[in-house]
Order: sequence, then structure tokens, then C-alpha cells
Amino acid sequence: MDSNSTGLIHQTSSRKRLDHKQDTICIFGTGDFGRSLGMRLLKSGYPVVFGSRDPKNPTLLPSGAQVFSHTEALKTSKIIFLAVHRENYDFIPALSDLLDGKVLVDVSNNLKMNQYPESNAQYLSQLVPKTNVVKGFNTVSAWALQSGSLDASSQVFVCGDDNKSKQLVMDVARGMGLTPLDQGSLLAAEELENYPLQLFPMWRLPLTITAGLTVFFFIYCVVLQVIYSYVNKNVDHTYKIMISIPNHVFPIVSLILLGLVYLPGVIAAFLQLYRGTKYKRFPDWLDKWMLCRKQLGLISFAYGFLHIFYSLVKPLRYIFYWKQAQYVVSQVKQNTTSELEMTWVWRGDLFYALGILGFFSFCLLGVTSLPSVSNAMNWREFRFVQSKLGHVTLLLCTAHAAVLGWNKFLKPTTYKWGLPRGYMLSMVIPCIVLVLKLILILPCVDRMVTRIRQGWERREKYADKLNI
Ligand code: NAP
Repeated sequence: MDSNSTGLIHQTSSRKRLDHKQDTICIFGTGDFGRSLGMRLLKSGYPVVFGSRDPKNPTLLPSGAQVFSHTEALKTSKIIFLAVHRENYDFIPALSDLLDGKVLVDVSNNLKMNQYPESNAQYLSQLVPKTNVVKGFNTVSAWALQSGSLDASSQVFVCGDDNKSKQLVMDVARGMGLTPLDQGSLLAAEELENYPLQLFPMWRLPLTITAGLTVFFFIYCVVLQVIYSYVNKNVDHTYKIMISIPNHVFPIVSLILLGLVYLPGVIAAFLQLYRGTKYKRFPDWLDKWMLCRKQLGLISFAYGFLHIFYSLVKPLRYIFYWKQAQYVVSQVKQNTTSELEMTWVWRGDLFYALGILGFFSFCLLGVTSLPSVSNAMNWREFRFVQSKLGHVTLLLCTAHAAVLGWNKFLKPTTYKWGLPRGYMLSMVIPCIVLVLKLILILPCVDRMVTRIRQGWERREKYADKLNI
């Protein structure tokens, strides 16, 4: 399509929109939401009329809007936004004749989830049964409408039983530069009303896991690095609590979380292999786990970032200078010069190289999960990056931890009080994931998983009886 024809289509659609903008919009209620909505509608070219209990007191109303009584305001428009709390809907039934056949938009929210037996919109519809009630705009805040910063909330969820009325409301939303999303019949209103009351529902489980792991590993590291030294050597290592221990805890938790991102995927693949079909639901816990993988990955990324910052300050610390100086002084006193240990040079460089590469591919993963980037990819490209690059990141980060351990894994002195170091524990889940993934990419296994995912089913004599 050339740019001329695109321009033509654009002009036609904006002309269509302008036609709609001729419709006057009525808003009941001159409170915060009503005023902000009115201001936004006026800016978008819609004439606005307010219906108020006290039309003679139009303070703070956007200039260009008119204010009438409810009855007078109703006569000017076929779309009415009801910007009034549900507790005050009792004036509506008296207007039912004037509201007949009109579109009444319920924007209300409640203070608690499932506060009433029915949604506010269904309640409104019962009050004026001949009016076409549409639920919408309740997920947009008055502040966002007023300030114009709608990036995070430019989506307007709309539902209603009358399709024509719903389309009219969606056109108004489009005219305001918002993105309307049809959520179906008025039955969906309850869900829409609960939506703004939710507080990071998808983040609750990942944050709880993160908090639990962080506290556990912090205490674990304090026991091994501070208390052990004090009890066995009477040495004070409490200074480690500020930088050294957090710099152990963050990468440990980050690696475990990254492992937890990829573990449900491999469990799901093995479950499908075992069942010989993809047409059976996963257990609830696995479903929930799969749904919070993105959040787990983002927290893991954030912890990885913290690890980088904490590592960068290492050479700036007083304890670092002090230890260096002590080392040099002890060599001078003993009149010795330590030889350059090539193994240690290689080990150190390998350790840092793996860390840098692991973090780099983690950054790529994070970038591709941004909606603006992932929208530019097709489904296959997105899956390729998230799965293949994800497993490569896990491999690099696990190898980074393994090189830190080097030959310490087999030395009994590593295990203070018989306990493994934190980084050793952090490798358990990633190693399980990597081994399982290795099995899954074996050609014969991979072929079977692919067939199952394409819809093929293994018919077994006893499969139905066992209900697996
Ligand atoms: P508000 O500032 O308290 O305004 C409510 C308006 O309702 C009042 O200004 C008043 O307008 C009218 N009203 C009050 N008592 C009334 C009564 N007994 N009979 C008739 N009208 C009455 O509340 P708001 O923040 O604008 O919220 C209005 C609705 O929008 C609520 O349902 C809320 O859940 C929803 N909402 C608000 C936001 C937000 O960010 N504020 C976001 C989404 C949805 P008049 O004096 O002009 O009659």
C-alpha cells in the first residue's frame, strides 16, 4: 500500500471520527471523574453538557461545558456518562422515561471486591430496564484523563448487552485517543469492577517466593560467613553484612528464580510425553506457575542487576585495600614473591567472562519481553528468543556459579558445619532444568514432543482407565 492510499484511509477514518464528535456527550456528576472526563472529551472535540444537582454552582468545570439539571441535560444527548457513586443512584429511576432507549455508561467502582451481590452496572440496568446500560471507563483514573498520561491505562474495557450502544461508547473512547476493548455482555461488569481493586495479582506469588528465598539465603550466609567465623576462629566478620553477603544473596536468588522460570516448561513437556496428549489440562499448580514466569524472570533480572552494582563497588571498599596491603606486607616480611598462577588467572577470567555473557543475554531476554519489542516479532521469533536464549542464559549463569566453585565442590573444608555454600544450593534447580532440557532436545524425544504439540495423541489401552 503506498503512502497516498494510507493517507486517504487515514483522512476518511478521521472524517468519520469527526462526524461522531458532533454528538453531544452528557455527564451526570460534576465530581473528580466527571470533570476530568468532560475536560478530555472537550479537548477531543466533543460538546459536553453536565447534569448536576446544583447546576448554578459550576465551580472548577472545564471551560466550554454547559451545566444543566439532570432532566435538562438528558434532553441534549443520547449518551450519558454516570459519574456518580452507586450509593447515589436513587435519583435515576425518576428519569427512566427520559432515559428510554438512550445509552447510559456506568463508570463506577467499588471500595471492596464483590461488595454487592450484583455488579453496579447490572443494578443500574435493573433500575432503568429500558435504557441500554454499558459498563466502561472505570479502569481509567480521573488523574490520567486530566493529565493526559494515559500510557499505562489507555485501554478502556467496555461491556454491555446492546451491541449498538456498546459500539457508540467504543467510538467515543477511540475519539478520545483511547483503545476500547470489548469484554462482551453486561455479565462481565463484575470482573471489570473488581479489576481496579486488584493489587499486582500476578506478582504476589513471585514476590512471596523472592522474599522467602532472600530471607532464607541471607540468614544462611550470615550463619556460614559471620557466625561460623566467630564461633570457630573468634574473628569478627560482621562487616560482611552490608556488601559481601547481599552480593552473595542476590545472584543466588537470581539464579534460582531463573531456574524456576524454565522448570515448569520442562515439567509440562514431560507431563505431555507421559500422558501422550496435549489435550489434558495441567494441574492447577503448574498452570499458576506457568502464568507467573514473566514476573519471576523480571525479578531475577532485577536481582542480577543488583549483583552487578554490588560487584562493581568491590574494589572501592576499604576492606579490599586493607587486605591487598596486608598481603604485600606479609610477602615483604617473609621476603617472598608469589608466582603468577596461570590456573587462577584462567579461572578468574572465565568466571567474569561467563558472568558478563550471562548478564548480556539476560538483558536481551529482558528487552525482548518489552511489549514494544515483542509486538514487532512474530510468535515463532518470540518463542525462539524466550526459550532458546533463555536456556543459554541459564547455562551461562549456572556455569558462572560452577566456575566460582571450581575445585571446592570436592573439598571437605568447603562445607562449614557440613553445609554446602549458598551458590552450590543455587545451582540445584538450574542443573535439574538443564539436564531435563538436554533430554528433551534429544532428536527422538524432541520429535515426540513436537508431534504431541501438533495434536497427535498416543492411544493406550489403559490410558482412559487410569485417567492420566
Ligand atoms: P466524586 O468526586 O465524589 O463525585 C461524585 C459526584 O456525584 C458529585 O460531584 C455529585 O455531582 C454527584 N452526586 C453526589 N451525591 C449525589 C446524589 N445523592 N445524587 C446525585 N448525584 C450525586 O466522585 P468521583 O471520583 O468523581 O467518582 C464518580 C464515579 O466515577 C464513581 O462511581 C467512581 O467509582 C467512578 N470512578 C472514579 C475514578 C476516579 O479516579 N475518581 C476512576 C474511575 C471511576 P453533582 O454535585 O454535580 O450532582
